[in-house]
Amino acid sequence: MRSFRLFFVYCLLATAYWLLPSCSNNEKTSQSETENLKPEVALPPAPKFNEDSAYSFVKAQVDFGPRIPGTAPHAKCADYLTSKLRSYGWEVQVQSGPVTTYDGKKFNLKNIIASYKPENTDRVLLMSHWDTRPFADSDTVGKDKPFDSADDGPSGVGVILEIARALSISKPDVGVDILFDDLEDYGKENDGGENTWGLGAQYWGRNPHKPGYKAAYGILLDMVGAKGATFPREGGSTQYAPYVVKKIWNKAAHLGYSNYFVFDDAGSITDDHVYIIQYANIPCVDIVNMIPPNTFGSYHHTHRDNMSIIDKNTLKAVGQTILEVVWEEQKVKM
Ligand SMILES: [Zn+2]
Repeated sequence: MRSFRLFFVYCLLATAYWLLPSCSNNEKTSQSETENLKPEVALPPAPKFNEDSAYSFVKAQVDFGPRIPGTAPHAKCADYLTSKLRSYGWEVQVQSGPVTTYDGKKFNLKNIIASYKPENTDRVLLMSHWDTRPFADSDTVGKDKPFDSADDGPSGVGVILEIARALSISKPDVGVDILFDDLEDYGKENDGGENTWGLGAQYWGRNPHKPGYKAAYGILLDMVGAKGATFPREGGSTQYAPYVVKKIWNKAAHLGYSNYFVFDDAGSITDDHVYIIQYANIPCVDIVNMIPPNTFGSYHHTHRDNMSIIDKNTLKAVGQTILEVVWEEQKVKM
């Protein structure tokens, strides 16, 4: 990822959103759906998120080598992710589709989709991209060379894999879908390149794995494993899914993770959630390591994005928070 969207456009849209009640109909509908999911009796405690396991999932992806579309590490990683998800008893499918990158290269993307309790109509969508940017173009050296990309992709995938493992054991009564989307990070960094990012999410948003697919909301994890990460409230998330932002940040605070989930507002960025909101009409939150208002970590798209920056404490903070948010969506029968 990904250029920052024009901030004044965000301000204009945000102002219009709050001034025009009719614009918030979708949000209100989804909010009431979400409220219906609230447990009627006390739930047992949520499972513990295992950060050691999540870390091993991050490392396994990085060990394949850069997961650049069209390469052997990319193909091997796809097999790894699908077999892991199947081993947890989730219904797994790989969505393929043709895409063309901004520099004219053609790929057959692989969106990896997994469903837990597919028969349940109350659903939450968890997302992360799994591809690697082909070049470390934000570095000062080796700008055209591949890089490990441990935080950018694998951290979110690792956290979600561990959530999948935990849910497969604890078996809560809630529907969950995972979308590991491809070709998020092959975008053009300069002006005019906004829609060159998130090609896998754009494809899925237009062609969901089930016609008319709906989720109460989506949660995108992007760069969620670096030591000292901070997750401010990203602008597009606050604009289109304010009640989900509130739910997640309040849960993190309750768990003692407000040093990660800071109560600061950040600018609106071009990331996969934009296309889930725009094309699939699903409110979606982006949990992304940023220094507010508009700076990514200094390792972003450089050779410094490797396993040395991954911190199990950060994985734990994100994983436990999201696991508990999902856990509390289940309906408990008397
Ligand atoms: Zn990236």
